[in-house]
Amino acid sequence: MTQRIAVLGATGSIGDSTLSILADYPEQYQVYALSGHGRLDKLLELCQQFKPSRVAVAEDKVKEFSNRLKQANISCEVVGGQAGLDNIAADAKVDTVVAAIVGAAGLSSTLTAAKAGKRILLANKEALVMAGSLMMQAVKDNGATLLPLDSEHNAIFQCLPAAVQQQNTRIHESCYGISKLWLTASGGPFLNKSLQLMQTASVSEAVKHPNWSMGQKISVDSATMMNKGLELIEACHLFDLDESQINVVIHPQSIIHSMVEYCDGSFLAQMGSPDMRTPIAHALAYPNRITAGVKSLDLYELSALEFIKPDLQKFACLKLARDAMRAGQAATIVLNAANEVAVEAFIKEQVSLTDIALINGRVLDTMHHKVSNNLMAKEDQLLTSNSTNKNSNFNGNINTLDDILVIDKLARIEAQQEVAKCRS
Ligand code: NAD
Ligand code: MG
Repeated sequence: MTQRIAVLGATGSIGDSTLSILADYPEQYQVYALSGHGRLDKLLELCQQFKPSRVAVAEDKVKEFSNRLKQANISCEVVGGQAGLDNIAADAKVDTVVAAIVGAAGLSSTLTAAKAGKRILLANKEALVMAGSLMMQAVKDNGATLLPLDSEHNAIFQCLPAAVQQQNTRIHESCYGISKLWLTASGGPFLNKSLQLMQTASVSEAVKHPNWSMGQKISVDSATMMNKGLELIEACHLFDLDESQINVVIHPQSIIHSMVEYCDGSFLAQMGSPDMRTPIAHALAYPNRITAGVKSLDLYELSALEFIKPDLQKFACLKLARDAMRAGQAATIVLNAANEVAVEAFIKEQVSLTDIALINGRVLDTMHHKVSNNLMAKEDQLLTSNSTNKNSNFNGNINTLDDILVIDKLARIEAQQEVAKCRS
C-alpha cells in the first residue's frame, strides 16, 4: 500500500535526503505535503517535482507562494504558519510525518502528529528536548509510532530487541539484559584544536563538519558538542532511560553510529558510511529494508576506529546537558532555548563560539535562581494571562504545550540579555 508522506522541513538537509529517497519509490511513497520556511525557490522546485496536494509556508508568504504556484501551473493548497503546519501534521490523509524542521519551531507540529496517531520519523530532536514526556505520552495514548532519524538513535533502535523496538516493553523493565547505551560523537571540527582556537573560530570554520553535511544550527551544535548533549536528552526520552545509563564516546571516524551494551559483555553496534539516507531509509521502510543510494562501507579501506572520552571542560555544553537532564524538564527547555538564541547570535557574529556555553550556563543559573525564589510566576503573568505554569520548577511536572512555551520564552529573553552582555 502507498504511504502518504508529509515532509515538514522539506527545504532543509534532512528534507533533501528524505526526498531523494522518496523520488526513487513513487509506488510505495506518495509525497502528499511539504513545508518550507525560507528558500521558496527550492520549495517551488520541490512542488514541481513531487506535486504535493498541500504545502505549508510562513504566514506572510502564503499569498506570494500561492501566486508563484499558479504561475507555474501547479495546483496545490497553500497553508500558513504554525496552524498550517499543525493542520498538515493532523491531516487524515497523511500516514507518515517526517519531522525535519529545525529547533523549537518544529515542536507543535511534531506533537500534533503524535496526538493524531501518525507514524513519525523524527529528526527534530529539539521537540523531545523541550517536551519529551508530553511527546512520549502522546505517542502512547494515541497509538502513534515514533521512529528516530537521528543517526545515533536510529543506530540504537536497530540494536535493540524487536519487542523493545515495537514499544511492547520498556528497556529497564525488560529481561533483555540491556545495561547501557553508548552514543558516539565525531567530536566536530575542534576535536584536536585548542580551546583558544575555538574562542576565535569563524562561522565557516565552525560549520565545517569533518564527516557530515548538515544544516547550519546542528553544525554549530556539533562544534560545541551541544548536539551530543541534546541527543543525550533525546535518548533518555526515546528509550525511557536515566542519563546515567547513557555514555557518550567520541569516535572521530563516524563509522559506528552508536551502541547498546548488554549485561553479558556484548556491545551491539550499527555501522555504515556517515550518510543520513541510511537512517531515513531504515525508518521509512521499517520493518523492511530499501536501498538508499548509500555508498557501502569499504572495510578494507578503513583505518583504525578510535574511541575517546570527551573533555567536558572544552565541551562544556555536553556537561550542561547532562546536568539539565538531571535537574528536570524545565532545565532542558531552558537549555534548548538559550542555545538556540546563542547559536543564532554566533551565526550573526555577535558572540564567539565559546560564548555559547557561557550563555547557556548563565541562563540555566539565572532561571534556576528565579524558579527557586518564585520569581517565575510574576514574569510568567507578564507574558501570558492563561498559562497554567504558575508553579513550575526545575523538578516539577510540565503538563501542557503552553507550560513549555512560557519557560521557553522567558529563557529566550534571559539569553538575549546574556548575548548583549557578551557583546559589550
Ligand atoms: P536545515 O537548517 O537544513 O533545515 C531546516 C528546515 O526547517 C528547513 O526546511 C526550514 O525551512 C525549516 N524551518 C526553519 N525554521 C522554521 C520555522 N520557524 N518554521 C517552520 N519551518 C522552519 O536543518 P537540518 O540539518 O535538516 O536539521 C533539521 C532537524 O533535523 C534538526 O532538528 C536537526 O537537529 C535534525 N538532524 C539533522 C541531521 C542532519 O544531518 N542534517 C542529523 C540528525 C538530526
Ligand atoms: Mg545525530
